[in-house]
Amino acid sequence: MPAATSQSLAPCQLTEQEVARQFDTSVDTGLSAAEAQRRLTQAGPNALQTQAPTPSWRRLLTQFQDPLVYLLLVAAFITLVVWALEGRKGWPMDALVILVVVALNALLGFVQETRSRRAAEALIRLTGVTSAVLRDGVPQRVPSTELVCGDLLLLSEGDSVGADARLIQASVLRVQEASLTGESEAVLKEPAPLPAATPLAERCNMVFKGTAVAQGSGRAVVTATGMATEIGAIAHLLNTTIEEATPLQKEVRQIGRMLGRAVVLICIAVIAAVLLVSNIRTLHDLVSVLLLGVSLAVAAVPEGLPAILSLVLAMGVQRMAGRKAIVKNLSSVEALGSASVICSDKTGTLTRSEMTIERAVTSSGSSRVGGVGYAPEGQLHHLDQAQAGEVLSHGPMHSEHVVLLSGGSLAGNADLRQAPDGNWVIQGDPTEAAFLVAERKLGVHERRQARFERIADIPFTSDRKMMSTLAIDHEHDGERVIIAKGAPDVLLAHCTHVRVGLEVRALSDDARAQALADVNALSDAALRTLSVAYRPLAPDEHEQQGEALERDLIFVGTVGIIDPPRAEAAQAIKEAHRAGIRVIMITGDHPRTAARIASDLGIVAPGATALTGADLDTMDDARLAEAVGSTSVYARVAPAHKLRIVKALQAQGHVVAMTGDGVNDAPALKLADIGVAMGITGTEVTKEAGQMILADDNFATIVAAVREGRNILDNIRKFLRYLLSSNMGEVLTVLLAVVGARVLGLIDASGDVVLPLLATQLLWINLITDSGPALAMGVDPSSDDVMARRPRHPSDRVIDARMWATVLQSGLALALATLVTLDLFLPGGLLEGTQDLTTARTAAFTVLVMGQFFNAFNARSDTDSAFQGLFSNRWLWAAVALGLGLQIAVVELPWLNLAFGTAPLTLAQWGLCVAMGSAVLWVSELRKLGLRRRGVARSQVHSTQA
Ligand code: ATP
Repeated sequence: MPAATSQSLAPCQLTEQEVARQFDTSVDTGLSAAEAQRRLTQAGPNALQTQAPTPSWRRLLTQFQDPLVYLLLVAAFITLVVWALEGRKGWPMDALVILVVVALNALLGFVQETRSRRAAEALIRLTGVTSAVLRDGVPQRVPSTELVCGDLLLLSEGDSVGADARLIQASVLRVQEASLTGESEAVLKEPAPLPAATPLAERCNMVFKGTAVAQGSGRAVVTATGMATEIGAIAHLLNTTIEEATPLQKEVRQIGRMLGRAVVLICIAVIAAVLLVSNIRTLHDLVSVLLLGVSLAVAAVPEGLPAILSLVLAMGVQRMAGRKAIVKNLSSVEALGSASVICSDKTGTLTRSEMTIERAVTSSGSSRVGGVGYAPEGQLHHLDQAQAGEVLSHGPMHSEHVVLLSGGSLAGNADLRQAPDGNWVIQGDPTEAAFLVAERKLGVHERRQARFERIADIPFTSDRKMMSTLAIDHEHDGERVIIAKGAPDVLLAHCTHVRVGLEVRALSDDARAQALADVNALSDAALRTLSVAYRPLAPDEHEQQGEALERDLIFVGTVGIIDPPRAEAAQAIKEAHRAGIRVIMITGDHPRTAARIASDLGIVAPGATALTGADLDTMDDARLAEAVGSTSVYARVAPAHKLRIVKALQAQGHVVAMTGDGVNDAPALKLADIGVAMGITGTEVTKEAGQMILADDNFATIVAAVREGRNILDNIRKFLRYLLSSNMGEVLTVLLAVVGARVLGLIDASGDVVLPLLATQLLWINLITDSGPALAMGVDPSSDDVMARRPRHPSDRVIDARMWATVLQSGLALALATLVTLDLFLPGGLLEGTQDLTTARTAAFTVLVMGQFFNAFNARSDTDSAFQGLFSNRWLWAAVALGLGLQIAVVELPWLNLAFGTAPLTLAQWGLCVAMGSAVLWVSELRKLGLRRRGVARSQVHSTQA
């Protein structure tokens, strides 16, 4: 804990030792895990406080905040008053049923909302930002929320800074602080102490929470966490994340409102009609009619839709996370379902990133280094003697190959270690590790390690496409050398000489051309190419660092590295193409390597060429727009090119998914409709910028997520179709019954019109048929081949004219079946019956419930028979079975008869009700058959996009 003496000093004033003392930490080993835990318990998590979470009881109460619920409560109250006024005996059943229904509905809504929230919270945990720290002397990544004062932060390019911290070491460290200071250029950081009054934007020896490391690396001691940080001080100014509704949610809400208004109008019409045609004698009669109107409104307005929609989206997101595609917000699910282009990196996403040096080419010729295996967790395959001999015994080539492989190993940061179990383990960039593996196989690694001592790096970036190391050569009196490796075309531009055997010669145009021809040959064989060059530094250059040293280099040679395509990538690309989605490869690699791998994977036809970053630079936006239409491989691109490609594709109306891993990819990821960040190799900044994180860095996972996204959209259409047609059935039943009461025999002994269904019955239907089946449809396994269609156009309405037609038709079938049943049971009307009103209502009520269950199976597809995959959704069967059980209870149990105004039915009557209820199924089957006959393919059902 801070020592009393230096407590008044600001961290930026302190020296390294003073910071360590003030924050009671070690700059060599960091805090101990136990101490970090203790400080975390004391200080609380390192998080900006957003609004306090709403307590559960509040959230439960908000479920009642709905005009329809108010209406019901008022209705219940009036019923109660009338019951009291009229001095009826027994319980006030209507009022009680209404209250129970209101309570149950609220509870259902609450459970749904809680589940959605939990799913969202789980995702936040999955996508949480991490920080690298040193604890107990061991480098490790911890969730940034667990950082405490005194923690030793290890910063590197692409990290997001997890807390305010005082730098104690920095190597070309540049930090992007725009989020805090508005400064758009990355700020160069240095550890030297500064006066206390230094303004925030100039406090170069501090790094701040919420900013990002744009370049370089450093170490820093955490000085403030959570609300005590600089960004915490302005946290109240920041927009707290508002859960923005997805386009789909907005559309559904709008439809809900529209339907709400329509239904209320219909209910008023129904009440007016009943009041007109029947002879209301008692207060009780009047209340019954009003109650029916209110209940009809409650039953027919799809008020639960938004909640079900969020839950279905949230569950879909959870399923995606289970398949290694972590989606951060619900909108991305929709975007995924509509994706029409996937732009993917090559290395690691389409390929396995298992790099093996296959060939080595120098000015003396080419030789196979194959058999020097990739060694992640496996054995290092030893070159047999003949192979090693081939490489080592070629006289002058010997020295070139040793320089090539050892030089490449020296100019890198990877590490190759033998684990206790004897297996070789690679740490760091696989490209760099490939050199270490090859060098070790030649058996020259020990000599290199003894001879050279690395002192500094000029780091690799995807913009530069090369990196260099400064080293001391202990066999040459401590002479300093710069050793560079990088993309051959890039590196050659920095070379003026070439190594031939033991000699160094000027690099003639012919030699340069030859080197490039060698590279082309390697690239055409799908090999990834890297060259190595070096230069002993002049004594006056010893104190210099930086890119200026990368000049007049001596070219050594080029290696060809095999990076086999992922087995599942070709399959996923085929699937994407089948689904009408274009796949575009965007890579930093050589154009020929890129084109060859793209054609091996089936992205382009053999012989297709790649467009390079340099080509893109010569194009204006109009020409680029033209080019993106036909180009599917881009090579030697820098991150800025990705941004232009996304823009051009979006301008053509595409919904673009774009992958990225480096810090400079963040802008393109943000712009894309679905920014896809790599979970393993991606930097923290990219992960923050992306809308989706691939936990396995695998291209096939993107395609799987698209499939899931399409499936979710499909399921949403299913339950919309179901809910809307069921509600339509209820409204039409009551409306038509009142209008045609005399035709149906819906009159009492004195010739007055009576109600076809009771208010409580309508509420019951709403309760048992809405949530269960609709939710079950939300997890429907894809019934047809969702990947056989073209992508949905984002402007396509979810509920289109065709769906409305289905809704009307099924609703009408439901209503007619119910009305015919009424007529069949009641004396008088078109069909002569013999049952009393209570039994007739019970039968009609049961037909309406059964009809909705049948309709649930209908709604699963717009064109396919309900019998196709009939048993594939066990949740739906469970929901229907539960509903059926409850309906039987309501019809057969005496005390429920009392509450719901029902009477027991005979077995034959039950049979009749089920048969009548099934009418909606048969009508629908006929319609679908007609559609299929007319050849309305599924692909046309969901897409208008060419
Ligand atoms: P992708 O963009 O598909 O992930 P990539 O990994 O090939 O592809 P970059 O990492 O930008 O793209 O690499 C571009 C080129 O830079 C490579 O073809 C290679 O020649 C060179 N290169 C890659 N890694 C290194 C490295 N660690 N050191 C030096 N040069 C490298």
